[in-house]
Formats: sequence, structure tokens, C-alpha cells
Amino acid sequence: MKKKFNLKDFFHSFRTRIAVLVLLVGVVPCTVFVVSFSSLYEKQSVNSDVNDLVEKGQILNKQIVSSGYLNQQESELVDNQLEVLSTSLSGRIMVVDNTLTIVKDTYNADEGKTIIWGNVVSTFQNKTTSLYDDENDYLVVTVPIKSDGDDDVLGVLVMNKTMSYIDTNLEFFQSLSIIMCLILYIIVIVLAMFTSNRFTRPFYKFCDLIEEVEKGASQEVVVFDDFTETKEVSEKMNSFLNRMRVVDESRQEFVSNVSHELKTPLTSMKVLADSLNGQEDVPVELYREFMLDIGEEIERETKIINDLLSMVKMDKAATTLNISPVNMNELIELILKRLKPIAEKQHVEVVLESFRPVTAEIDEVKFTLAITNLVENGIKYNKEGGWVHVSLNSDHQYCYIKVEDSGMGIPQESLDHIFERFYRVDKSHSREIGGTGLGLAIVKSAVSMHNGDIKVHSVEGEGTMFDVRLPLNYIAKEVR
Ligand code: ADP
Repeated sequence: MKKKFNLKDFFHSFRTRIAVLVLLVGVVPCTVFVVSFSSLYEKQSVNSDVNDLVEKGQILNKQIVSSGYLNQQESELVDNQLEVLSTSLSGRIMVVDNTLTIVKDTYNADEGKTIIWGNVVSTFQNKTTSLYDDENDYLVVTVPIKSDGDDDVLGVLVMNKTMSYIDTNLEFFQSLSIIMCLILYIIVIVLAMFTSNRFTRPFYKFCDLIEEVEKGASQEVVVFDDFTETKEVSEKMNSFLNRMRVVDESRQEFVSNVSHELKTPLTSMKVLADSLNGQEDVPVELYREFMLDIGEEIERETKIINDLLSMVKMDKAATTLNISPVNMNELIELILKRLKPIAEKQHVEVVLESFRPVTAEIDEVKFTLAITNLVENGIKYNKEGGWVHVSLNSDHQYCYIKVEDSGMGIPQESLDHIFERFYRVDKSHSREIGGTGLGLAIVKSAVSMHNGDIKVHSVEGEGTMFDVRLPLNYIAKEVR
């Protein structure tokens, strides 16, 4: 199904952002250049014209002074030069003497008149001035007329230049730049579309493949090596999918194990009940015997359910831990006291050896269950007159609990499996003594939850030792 267009998604999309970025990178510098070029060009042209006029004025200055032009002396050479210059400037030149009288005007309009203008007056103070009128397109430069090596200003040369060429040039430049910019904008838009599509294509392909995995049409996504990042993401995705597969398989196995385990006592009860129901005149003794068996099966079913519930609790996130400082010596003593009747029934001696007072930050309920399971196993899988030795020790960082027994031991090939759910070395024997195969899985979860670790050493026929190491201070793992 095609997705509905959403404006917010559109602006948040990677594709739009790349396109906008490319557009900005292409369009902004070009536009800034075109806009700023006009004013830069105008400024630069005026500056260069001012310098040019000052230079020309200085050349004329010498001839005006040497010809005595300011003192009413005729000079055809100066007149000619003034005319030539004013023609080349498409403007007007005036020569003003020290009484502010215009002695020469190339427009022949104001000769003999007095000029009172700030720039002319300033020039008599030995200053060169310039005025640019961009509205009317003219530039006026005034240059002092003075003798060589003398600072006395004898007169002022007023040069007026028409600047309409700036507008003409700018108009040409602007029409050219509009065409160039249009071409550039088209190129940039095409480039923006191409690059945004190129960069986002792997992500869309990736989404399609994930959809296929979701539908079950594929087991894993193809590794995209278009870019290093996409390659990394697809590889990570595959390892995640593999992990999910393993989790799913183990979940399925667990469900089938649970169903099997729960069904076994029910099947036995059904057989017992059927055989009673199928017989007429059943003797009371037989009833009693079968009912005892049914009772045992119910007890077994209850134990499996209780163990399952404990395990579910252990499987929950570590945030459900109820951590507090606990006196470990007292805790273990209490556990052993509770297990004493079972031990006595089995004629197994249980001994506690505490090397020092130990306080650790633990979830008392969950950790009690773990130690209880270990000691209970030591008793269950022991022989008549055997022993279980529990020791407690610590250093500045860890607490060490050892549960050692003189029991039947565990075969080497089973050692790697005993912490798996429902694993039992000898199914029938374990069942006989009320094992569910969940005890050590619960122990392992509880120890891991406390960031501890557990090791097992065993020699068949001699005994087993479980070694638990637990940090004294609980540090919650970072949730990522
Ligand atoms: P169960 O409920 O069957 O005891 P556990 O998970 O506690 O399940 O133990 C798994 C298996 O490991 C047991 O069935 C038993 O065969 C073996 N095992 C555990 N503890 C001991 C021990 N102390 N001595 C010998 N075998 C043990």
C-alpha cells in the first residue's frame, strides 16, 4: 500500500534535507555573488575613476600654472587639453581661481561667475574631493591647482564625468547573470534530485527487505555496500535477526519442554484414575495407594509450576530487583536451618563455615532462592551419611560462597548443560527425587542479575562444588 503524503514527514525526510542542502550549496553562493557583484563593481569603478581624474588633474595642473592661465593669460594648449579631456569624460571641466571665479568652463555657460560650493572651498585647503551621484550618474572630482613645491592653492580644477557606463555595464552583466543563474539553478535542481535519490535509495531498499523479513519471505537482509554506513547497518541488522532467531528457537523449545513437563504428571494421574474407574469393586487399599500416587503427582505438578513462576520472575528486567544490604552470614544460616529437616531425612550433614562477617547488597528473596537450590541439590544428589559443606568468605570487592557436597557428582560431558532449563543428568533419577531441571537455571539467572558469576567443579562418584562470586556493592547495569 502506498503511504499517504504527509507534509511533516516530507520536511523531516533525509531525501528532502539532502536536496535542500545541495540546493543551498549551489544556489546561495551564486545568488550572493550576483547581488554583491553589482555594488562591488560600482564602488570599484568610482574609485578607479576618481584616481584617474586626480592623475589627469595633476597633469593639467602643471600646464595651467606654467601658462599663467589663472591670471587671464590665453593658452590654446590648455584650452585644447581641457576640451579633449571634457569630451573624453563626456562631462564638464571648470577652472576656478582663488577668488572663486570660474575662469574656464568647457560648457561655456558659467565663465566669470562665482562658484560657492563646499567641495571647491575644501579644495582651497589643499584637499582633493570627490562626489558620486548614482541617481544622476555623474562624478565630480576637485583637484587643487598649485605651483611645484608650494602648498599655496592658486585655484581649483573641477572635473565632472558622466558615469552612465556603469549602468550600461551592470545591465549587461545582470541580463547575462540571469541567464547563467537560470542554467545553474536547473543544473543544481537536477543534481539535488539525483544526489538525494542516490543517498536515500539504499534506505528504501532496506525498508523493503525488512518488510520481506517481517512477512517471512526472507531470512535476512542483503548486505548493502553502497556506503560504509549502510553496510554496517545491514550487517548489524542481520546479526540482530540471527539473535532473534536463536531467542525464538529457544522460546519454542522452552514452550514445548514446559508443555511436556506439565503433561507428564497429568498423564500419570489420568492413568491412575482410569484404572480405578475401569475396575469394579476396587479394594480400599488399592484406592488408597492410587490416591497417594495421585497426590504425589499433584505435588510434582505444583513444584514445576512454582519453579516456572520463580524463573519467570528471574527473567524480568533487573530493574525489578529489590536491592538492600544483607548480612550474608545470617542469611545463609537461616537457609541451612530451613533445609535441616530435608537433610536429616536424607542423613546428610550440612555444615556452615563463615570466615568473616559479610554484608552484601542483594535482592534477599531472589538470592535466597539461588542458595537454597544449590544446597538442596547438594542434599538431594548425595548419598546416605554424606555431607554438604557451605563456606562464606569475602575480600574488599566480592563475596564468595562455596557449596560443596560428597554426592554422586556430575559427568564431565553434562557440566556444560546443567544450567540449561529442564536439563537433568539422569531424568528418571531426578524425577524420583522431585527434580524439575529448573533449579540451576534459576540459580544462574539470580547470580547474573546480581552481576555475579558461578562455576562448577565435579568428579563423578566423589562430589560437586559450586563456586559463587558476588560483588559486595550492587551496580545497576546501564540500560541501552
Ligand atoms: P533438578 O530440579 O533436576 O535438580 P537442577 O537444574 O537443579 O534440576 O539440576 C540439573 C541437573 O544437574 C540435575 O538433574 C542433576 O542431574 C544435576 N545436579 C545438580 N546439582 C547437583 C549436585 N550437587 N550433585 C550432582 N548432580 C547435580
